[in-house]
Amino acid sequence: MSFSIKQTWIECIGCGFQAELLQERKFKCPKCGNLFDIKHNLDLLEMYPAGWTQKFDARARRTDLGKTDNPLFHSGVWRFKEWIMPYLPTNDIVTLGEGNVPITKAGKNLLEWIGGDIDLHIIQEGMTPTGSFKDFGGTVMMSLAKTMGIKTVCCASTGDTSAMAAAYAAKAGIECVVILPKGLVTPAQIAQPLVHGALVIMLPGDFDDCMRVQLELTTNHGVFPANSINPSRIEGHQATVFLLAQHFGWELPDWIAAPVGNGSNVSSIGKGLRLIQEQLPNIGSSNILGCQSRAANPLARSWNLANNGRWDEGVDRRNFWLEKYVDIECGTTTATAARIGAPVSRDKVMREIALSRGAMTVAQEEDLNQAVFVCGRDGLFVCPQTGIALAGVKNAVKNGWIKAGDRVAVVSTANGLKFTESASENPDRRMIDSSDCSVESVLDLISAYS
Ligand SMILES: [Zn+2]
Repeated sequence: MSFSIKQTWIECIGCGFQAELLQERKFKCPKCGNLFDIKHNLDLLEMYPAGWTQKFDARARRTDLGKTDNPLFHSGVWRFKEWIMPYLPTNDIVTLGEGNVPITKAGKNLLEWIGGDIDLHIIQEGMTPTGSFKDFGGTVMMSLAKTMGIKTVCCASTGDTSAMAAAYAAKAGIECVVILPKGLVTPAQIAQPLVHGALVIMLPGDFDDCMRVQLELTTNHGVFPANSINPSRIEGHQATVFLLAQHFGWELPDWIAAPVGNGSNVSSIGKGLRLIQEQLPNIGSSNILGCQSRAANPLARSWNLANNGRWDEGVDRRNFWLEKYVDIECGTTTATAARIGAPVSRDKVMREIALSRGAMTVAQEEDLNQAVFVCGRDGLFVCPQTGIALAGVKNAVKNGWIKAGDRVAVVSTANGLKFTESASENPDRRMIDSSDCSVESVLDLISAYS
């Protein structure tokens, strides 16, 4: 066993129960049923005399990558290994070169559509090996599985998790089983696990049915989960915050906005914020904006019932929120990857929104689709879940939570190429049938329509 409980352990977010990370094969607290956090004793690490930021900057600036296999130089997640999984043997790291994603300024069309005078940036987590943000956590989850000698990983998925699990399992030489809701994922999202050799099991239900089966397999049949109930996923996904801070010269943006499905984005962002504020006390703070679609909004709906606006000083809104919370039956939405009525990471989302003094908001279906088309006009093809976050930012600007001059980072969670069907429904699309194959006909059409 490579970690001792003095270095890295798991701890229940409800009652504080602690256990060995590598030995505890349960993913819910045996005492109270709540979720686990992974904790590291960073005080045991050898400190770098020049400080963490210079170390991480030096890794990011390496120019001789063709001469080294060291994942600390190749991966934008493992660049921050000391903050993510410090005691994992570097030899066990399973990487596909994830994490080195573009962070770009919002284009003119998007800025006009959102309104307000804000400094808007998009971290394009769809530009990863499997086309979604899941790779940030997946590399850590699969590296841990390798250290633990796991033979098979399993996940329920709306699409992106299964692609990630299958790709990283293939790289690690570990078997992968994915459980998908038949008819509710896109052809691209079925193709990915099939290409990577996973066993794909189609359930005649929705995502919540898949998750129920997955949880039962994990709880009572010893199956190692690739879902975000596995706390190692959250560790890697904290890199979102570290990459953003590094991008802005080690400053935090005023707001970080992300869509909320199962809740792993907000859980990771919140945990990463707390860690970076502890390590770099002068770095400032970010509010987290959690965004859900009208069709799948259990957290935003209960937030609105509990909170008339933002946090009031000295009022325990988190408990009001929990009292108002109920799981919901989802409606229909093009944002299928966040169509979740019973989010697994619910309690972590509530903790992180509360601690960051953030907020939740609901994106109308029309707005989230429009956001995708508007980004397209700026040259960026984002997924409908990113549309939820962008529509959420528009709401937050409109109601005054996000103020003029605020720096805002939006997490774009997946590549639009995974969602070509909904994207091709753009009402402004321009597609014309030519009557024949002649140059003259094409010239006529160009002059008539362009
Ligand atoms: Zn507990």
